[in-house]
Amino acid sequence: MTGFLAGVEAQLATLGRESLRRERRVLDSPQAGHVVVGGRMLANFASNDYLGLANHPRLRAAAHAAIERYGVGSGASPLVTGHQRIHEQAEERFARFCRMPRALLFGSGYAANLGILTTLADRHADIFSDRLNHACLNDGALLSRARHVRYPHGDLERLGEALAHSKAPTRIVATDAVFSMDGDVAALPELLALCERHDAWLVVDDAHGIGVLGGGRGTLAHFGLASERIVYMATLGKALGSHGAFVAAAPSVIEWILQRARTYIFSTALPAVSAAAAHEAVVLLEEDGTLVATLHDRIAQFRAATQALGARRPSSPTAIQPVILGAADAALDASRWFAERGFLVPAIRPPTVPAGTSRLRVSLSAAHTHADVRSLAGALQDCLA
Ligand SMILES: *Cc1c(COP(=O)(O)O)cnc(C)c1O
Repeated sequence: MTGFLAGVEAQLATLGRESLRRERRVLDSPQAGHVVVGGRMLANFASNDYLGLANHPRLRAAAHAAIERYGVGSGASPLVTGHQRIHEQAEERFARFCRMPRALLFGSGYAANLGILTTLADRHADIFSDRLNHACLNDGALLSRARHVRYPHGDLERLGEALAHSKAPTRIVATDAVFSMDGDVAALPELLALCERHDAWLVVDDAHGIGVLGGGRGTLAHFGLASERIVYMATLGKALGSHGAFVAAAPSVIEWILQRARTYIFSTALPAVSAAAAHEAVVLLEEDGTLVATLHDRIAQFRAATQALGARRPSSPTAIQPVILGAADAALDASRWFAERGFLVPAIRPPTVPAGTSRLRVSLSAAHTHADVRSLAGALQDCLA
């Protein structure tokens, strides 16, 4: 064996020994409340399809219609010829939906965060990030070459001190609105007040808040926040059931990102089918609040039914409900225990979460029935008893 391969295989073996090696499951069904894996139907508490829209008839119909009208591939980056009428309509609709002046579509949330941070920041800037932010905000900070300061989760005092000491011409506070492994909500009004006091941008990643909080309109709407210093990012691939993302901000900020973000300029435009499906999701949520209300009903049911788990089940008002177990192998064993009993509940381990906080991450959805949630809560009691 060559030295290269031996080195890679030794590292893979280390991952295996430390219970950190990941494996993919092959789904033989659409994403839904129940999915088919290995010939078995499993209750699915492992997806970000919080409203059950990924296989919704209205989104499927909108996607089919978009294929008929626009074809399958967008064929070019948006600034060349990849920006079709449906992209334009979707941007207008998304901006209105989350009550922002203007929106810009991106190929993914990952690309959007990289695009925002590399456009706003350069190596003279300071970026302040919550320690539990999603990986792509950290990667955007790294790529921008700004000084990157990570403050302890939710610690506004430490953030305020760090901002007060900053002499950078550009300061940016970047935060998840809903933290992706804990489900808790960032104190956006207080963060905005700090940004105002210290003349900083506030970059908000609402991947897990759009479709869930603020009646579905997202975490800014939830708090009733608006400001020229907010740059908002929401993904289309989670509660909105499609794929892609949009950035929303003041019109000139969006224009600047359109002109400068390399992940926008040098990447093929989102396919029309993805824009059309997400557009339909927003139309549906504006017409009818039932899906969002159903999700919140399931969240309340789960919280009530798992009260006995105490501190292992931190407070979360969102679809993400972690159950903290500690060691990576404990989380993996529990996840396997659930799979044997017909539940998909993922184990989340380092480096996705800090060492010693490995967990089961239960994701609830409007696609779950009361019976689904009841049986999951009962199994959790059995597993952890
Ligand atoms: C999923 C996620 C992203 C990335 O979005 P994609 O569209 O999947 O690339 C960004 N931020 C957070 C908080 C996420 O959970």
